[in-house]
Amino acid sequence: MKCLCIRLKVPGNSIAEDATLGRISEMRHIKHSKNRDKALRCLLHPLHETDAKSRDVSLRMKLSNSRGKMSFENLNIIAPLQQALAKEGYTIPTPIQMQAIPYLLQGKDLMGIAQTGTGKTAAFVLPILQRMFENNKAPIPGAPRVLVLAPTRELAAQIDQSFATYGQFLRFRHTVIFGGVRQGPQVRILSRGVDILVATPGRLLDLMNQGYIRLKDVEFFVLDEIDRMLDMGFINDMRKIVSALPQKRQSLFFSATLSRQTGEFAERLLKDAVRINAAPQASTLECIEQRVFFVDQNNKYPLLQRLFIDQDLDRVLVFTRTKHRADKIAEMLSKDKINADAIHGNKSQNQRTKAMHDFKSGHLRVLVATDIAARGIDVNDISHVINYDLPSEPESYVHRIGRTGRAGADGMAYSFCSSDERNMLRGIERLTRKKIEVSEHKYHSENAKNAVGEAAKPATPGRSSRAMLRNLRPDSMHKSGSHRPYPVRRN
Ligand code: AMP
Repeated sequence: MKCLCIRLKVPGNSIAEDATLGRISEMRHIKHSKNRDKALRCLLHPLHETDAKSRDVSLRMKLSNSRGKMSFENLNIIAPLQQALAKEGYTIPTPIQMQAIPYLLQGKDLMGIAQTGTGKTAAFVLPILQRMFENNKAPIPGAPRVLVLAPTRELAAQIDQSFATYGQFLRFRHTVIFGGVRQGPQVRILSRGVDILVATPGRLLDLMNQGYIRLKDVEFFVLDEIDRMLDMGFINDMRKIVSALPQKRQSLFFSATLSRQTGEFAERLLKDAVRINAAPQASTLECIEQRVFFVDQNNKYPLLQRLFIDQDLDRVLVFTRTKHRADKIAEMLSKDKINADAIHGNKSQNQRTKAMHDFKSGHLRVLVATDIAARGIDVNDISHVINYDLPSEPESYVHRIGRTGRAGADGMAYSFCSSDERNMLRGIERLTRKKIEVSEHKYHSENAKNAVGEAAKPATPGRSSRAMLRNLRPDSMHKSGSHRPYPVRRN
């Protein structure tokens, strides 16, 4: 990796440099980059992390020998796919693509550990499309050849969009199905025959049970964000879905983090799989600058206001722990004339789609979200991720901040930490093996910074939620004694 970075710094030294610079300078979000070298390093960063256990040593040798002239052509990607990649401005495969594609073209099962924003979707979409093209078949109604499962509707929709983008010069039919919308249109598309089906587990099982989908012809089975699927309680749905798949298939699993539970689950379903580690587990992207703001709960909103006044917060994703809190903050920002909306599981699918669309198109400056958005959002130029509340699971931190700094751009990740979140911060720093730099600011709380023992833990869930809601408004806005507690819903 080092030699790659050095080479990239020498002007005009390689095709890779020129081509990557071409792609990078084309990206709108490059305006957030302090320098292009850094952006390049970030895009190409995990190259050296190929798992030492990867069994095909000669293939790895070939890969490393060909780094000087890395391109999709070197990976033997067929012309129609290269054409689509060129149209997107992608000439250099990212490390996960470089590592995974050769194995996937050979038909191997794969467990890929890849950081968010590293191009892992193309790493599986491209070889799947290529292998389908090499063995072309007419689509059969209700019986797809490819099944991709994703934990959230937004992520499923994005993966489907990637099949559309990369497959634009091929003639495969694809569709996405998820809950929260009427099933009629989905059933009609399925009945006309689709080659590629992207789904969330609930709606897939629903339509399978009604006889609209049969999985007996699935050749390629992809589980994206597998750890998240397990966290979200999809394990039983996934078991049922897997039992309907044929034994002979190629299975591709991807995740940004890998717990023991995930590893065991994957191990049972994969056959003779290649394991690729595109990045150290749970390491946060190098190009994201991280800061922690120690602050008391009641000063979090004033701090947020201050940041909007003092800093160039262009396109901001704010994370809260509960849905209700997300709504409240979006409401308060809107009152402060900052264009904001909230996205979470209690919103209808139409509201979620609209909020995402408005955020992507730049109509909204701020999207306030619960963790549902941590995996599904691929908006290239998110300038800042703000953890208004720290996540209780440290892995979520990695996913949340991965929403900025995507595809080599710089990003900022700010985390507000009150005393009862102090241990969460310690957990995050332990997981990422990185000490987050402390930011100085007007509302700094030494109490929060130094909290230990009981004071550093969240209070009992009910109490802490109510306290958090009470503290949403700055002190000056409370009329003491007249506070009306907001209803608390579980997220
Ligand atoms: P992903 O990790 O799959 O969500 O991808 C993150 C972003 O990287 C997406 O916006 C992709 O369109 C973009 N991307 C994927 N492959 C490449 C590539 N080879 N070069 C530049 N950008 C890419």
